Amino acid sequence: MRFLRRGRDLACREMVELVTDYLEGALDARDRERFERHLRGCEGCTAYLEQMRLTLRLAGRLEPEAIDPAFRDRLVEAFQGWAEGR
Ligand SMILES: [Zn+2]
Repeated sequence: MRFLRRGRDLACREMVELVTDYLEGALDARDRERFERHLRGCEGCTAYLEQMRLTLRLAGRLEPEAIDPAFRDRLVEAFQGWAEGR
């Protein structure tokens, strides 16, 4: 299955960058709409968002600095591999 539609929707990597702003309500209406449109077509990012929501709930607040960038990159690669059917 192919959930990624490069060029039309946000790339998954961009989603990861925006997810903390999304959860904090910091996105403007236009970015929020793009974000949610991507979510509807991308199960990898939906799962990632749920993980971040859970983390936020457990931690009480979101600390983007606490997320290891290498770990984040691996997540993104895993999602992309899944979305591309590998
Ligand atoms: Zn995605």
